[in-house]
Amino acid sequence: MDNIDLKPVKEIDTWARKQFTGNRYIYYRRKGSYAECHCAECGGRYVLRAVETEDPFKDMALDIEKPERDMQTVCRKCKTKAIYKPAGYTRSEYAFCRICFGQKVDDEHFVFRVFYADQHTRQGCDTVYRCMEEHRIFLEKSRKPSRYCNYGARWHQSNVGENWRYLVFPKTYKEIAKTGMFKYVPVEQSIMNRYYDECGLIDYYIAAARYPDFEMILKAGLIEYADNLVRKIPVNPNPRGKNIEDRLRINKNRIKSLIACKGTKKVLEMYQLERRLGKHWTDEEFEIIKKLRENTWKTDLNKASTVLKYTSPIRLRNYMKKQKMWMPGEKADWRERNRRQDLRREYYDYISMRINEGYDMTNDVILFPTDFRRRRDEMILMVEKAKMDKRKTEVLEKYPKIKSKYKKLSEKYSAAAGGYIIRPAKDAAEIVEEGRTLHHCVGGDGYLRSHNDGRSFILFLRKADKKDVPLITVEIRDEEIIQWYGAYDRKTNKKLIDAWLAQYCKELQKRKKKPKTVQKTAKIGSKQQKTA
Ligand SMILES: [Zn+2]
Repeated sequence: MDNIDLKPVKEIDTWARKQFTGNRYIYYRRKGSYAECHCAECGGRYVLRAVETEDPFKDMALDIEKPERDMQTVCRKCKTKAIYKPAGYTRSEYAFCRICFGQKVDDEHFVFRVFYADQHTRQGCDTVYRCMEEHRIFLEKSRKPSRYCNYGARWHQSNVGENWRYLVFPKTYKEIAKTGMFKYVPVEQSIMNRYYDECGLIDYYIAAARYPDFEMILKAGLIEYADNLVRKIPVNPNPRGKNIEDRLRINKNRIKSLIACKGTKKVLEMYQLERRLGKHWTDEEFEIIKKLRENTWKTDLNKASTVLKYTSPIRLRNYMKKQKMWMPGEKADWRERNRRQDLRREYYDYISMRINEGYDMTNDVILFPTDFRRRRDEMILMVEKAKMDKRKTEVLEKYPKIKSKYKKLSEKYSAAAGGYIIRPAKDAAEIVEEGRTLHHCVGGDGYLRSHNDGRSFILFLRKADKKDVPLITVEIRDEEIIQWYGAYDRKTNKKLIDAWLAQYCKELQKRKKKPKTVQKTAKIGSKQQKTA
């Protein structure tokens, strides 16, 4: 279908030229008593001469007119209306427009062809007009449109929407009226002209082709809904639905009230939520949902829906009131509003955590705890620990050489001095734990892999009397420190640590020279002992 042969359209060319009637130029050069003129439109050249009038007291006057910059005139040769521009003092002029031409293919197929037309005038040269077909948008009944663009010499598939301004070639309207799938679609100007005149035309008919009930939606008065479809604002339609309530994804009894508000997105979303949860809310319950939707973000309602799945809106409201997180009255100031909104968010967080961990959500103790913040904090620690344990098991398996190399590395790198000790990591899990406690990134795969493969090694620098407490993490290659960091990537006691490590490196060099006499806990840095 997309490859159908489309003939070039000569009429577009002519029509395009007419769009530039305001930008036709005559270049003039005044020379004493005459002026040379060059019409860029027809290429004609002629001279306007000053003639002496019969009255000797009058000044010399130019024939008919004296050219001035930007003055309107008429070409003496081709009679076209044009604007005077002084030759030699004018930049080239450029204008362009896009023209959209819609063509019927058959009753269920339609194509929009978009032409890029431009006009370029340089002084001394004649005006050049070009008109190139740039885009093709193929519409097919009940399908997404397929788009092609012609930026080079060939057509490419494209995902770019129609965001440009364009003029509609008048014949398009006749073609639309001829096409079966558009025949009964009402022409809703308020939607088509939302941005610029007619510029919603392509989007409008894309929606009309894609959604088979578009015609019915408009006729029912769901204008806002149709507008959202045209503007591709997500309203979650179900094109395969058998009837209107299925296609809108709402309960049947809500159609009337949705029409009453023209299909506004806010209301639609609440009805869609009701159906998604398999509920039939009463008026009172629906008022509560509205309240939940008001003054909050849509995501808040989505989060609330995780709770509403297991309970009624009334019970949720009562709990929120008790917990002082229900929407405050109109008079409440913004601080109170924000505080309550934050509380609600925390509560929703708590709920989704419970759901993720597979708790029984029909249990009121779980759903409506007396102190959900405390329960939430407990959950966070629990989830964190489970994650950590999982990660440790994973890395032990993935980087086994860290453990097997430990003994050898320890002989090479372990040392103690000035109240500090340094040693390599015993296994991958220990590195992950170090990263977690110190809140830096050493537990990431990059460092683990590097240590595992022997490119660089992770060492722990700790206080001698607190050997199990992470303090400083060091990355080393041979006898050279690559980097070191403390908690939160900070370098507390930088001077002291740098000096200690410098001394340590010297010691490592010495060990390298006489490897047989290595002492496991060599004394280093006697100077630092005082400062430590
Ligand atoms: Zn002319």
